[in-house]
Amino acid sequence: MVDPSNGDVLEEAALATAEDVDDAVAAARRAQPAWGALPPGERSAALYRLSELLGGAAEELAQLESRQAGKPIRLAREFDVPGTVDNVAFFAGAARHLAGSATAEYSPDHTSSVRREPVGVVGSIAPWNYPLQMAAWKVLPAVAAGNAIVLKPSELTPLTTLRFAELAHEAGIPAGVVNVVTGTGAEAGTALVRHPGVDMVSFTGSTPVGKSIAATAADGVKRVHLELGGKAPFVVLDDADLEAAAHGAVAASLINAGQDCTAATRAYVHHSQLGEFVDRVRVLMAGVRVGPTSDPGTDLGALISRRHRDRVAGMVERAKAAGAKVVCGGSAPEDEQLRLGSYYLPTLVVDADQRSEIVQDEVFGPVLVALPFLDDDEAVALANDTPYGLAASVWTRDVHRALRATAEIRAGAVWVNDHIPIVSEMPHGGMKQSGYGKDMSQYSLEEYTVVKHVMYDRTARAEKPWHRTVFSLG
Ligand code: NAD
Repeated sequence: MVDPSNGDVLEEAALATAEDVDDAVAAARRAQPAWGALPPGERSAALYRLSELLGGAAEELAQLESRQAGKPIRLAREFDVPGTVDNVAFFAGAARHLAGSATAEYSPDHTSSVRREPVGVVGSIAPWNYPLQMAAWKVLPAVAAGNAIVLKPSELTPLTTLRFAELAHEAGIPAGVVNVVTGTGAEAGTALVRHPGVDMVSFTGSTPVGKSIAATAADGVKRVHLELGGKAPFVVLDDADLEAAAHGAVAASLINAGQDCTAATRAYVHHSQLGEFVDRVRVLMAGVRVGPTSDPGTDLGALISRRHRDRVAGMVERAKAAGAKVVCGGSAPEDEQLRLGSYYLPTLVVDADQRSEIVQDEVFGPVLVALPFLDDDEAVALANDTPYGLAASVWTRDVHRALRATAEIRAGAVWVNDHIPIVSEMPHGGMKQSGYGKDMSQYSLEEYTVVKHVMYDRTARAEKPWHRTVFSLG
């Protein structure tokens, strides 16, 4: 693992082979029945202990997360770690609220009830942008519902996931319930998705990899949960508070250096106000402090790798070649120290074509494109005009215009006059090619369960009334 902020080698981790994945799945299969059979209160108690242990290790986890992912330490301390602790505490409570529908008679001769049972063993694959939070989003609903899990973090950022698993064990979650395999997607990831001992695959990552995982999992008819890429529109209607929208756009496009699947990427602004919006955003972006990730004063950290930084830069260069203009940024910083890392300056692009790559494809860097629209109809149409549908925001003072836009924009989350905040109680997940399945919230817990109908005969007769359909009458 390399520290993206300076290129230093941080640590080495083993790359799991297919045999290692076999061992982890076997451990999960052994552990799951007893874990799944525990009363929810006992599972809940272990999960609460885990949230306390994570809270106790907050500073250690924040340092590790910041260093392996190139995040500013302030972001890791104030967002990644507290978000993770809260998520774990939420699922500790939610574990006790898994109810089926009430037992009842839907036919005079039977009593029906619904059992919600664990799916079994979940194979989970996570990305590098929020490694600790992704571990919590994947592990918690699965184990709260009584499953065992084998989680493969990104090969670029396994360190906090490994620490998370150690703390899970220390919290009293039995061995084999939470397993981590470190390794590449091509080897460990594929082995996990293909494994016959895995009942469900839950994946967070890019859309192309998600598609190939869904195809592989189809062979074993596995349940698949996909949280994929995003290209969030940020729609500023002509009655919006422009200052609030400009602040919101800068914060929401630069959080985690733009490596956030819900980051604001396409600001659609009424044509009469686009110039003023661009000016305000440019000024705010100029004040963002790009610096060493360990400095609490740093606002913008490094991108995950040089390779990724070059990919982002390539997209901006191609946008320029196609006629777009770069208002600010558009390069790596000049500073010699920062040049050792994979930094890229806050970047604002205008005059891009709606059909161009920079507007249609996920950049996953600190790059915002600002585009004009003529009226609300066009704003919604442009917002919906990409293959993605993960998140969006609308900025307006008019509740009726907000109601309309929130209903018509096709995305799994729509903010009004804000963009980015998440809460453990509410679902996160996409539409269209941003995938299906929900993380966080009760909805996520339910996805890691199977609904079973149990029907009891009430007649106690050998010859039941419905047998008339088979046995001859009389
Ligand atoms: P990625 O798709 O390259 O990799 C994600 C994970 O999949 C990694 O662990 C990787 O090792 C593994 N992988 C790669 N190829 C595989 C294969 N063939 N079989 C099995 N596993 C494989 O994504 P990334 O670059 O790590 O993360 C960035 C992407 O994640 C962005 O597209 C971003 O939008 C998305 N993301 C989505 C959400 C969400 O909730 N929707 C959240 C965070 C990130």
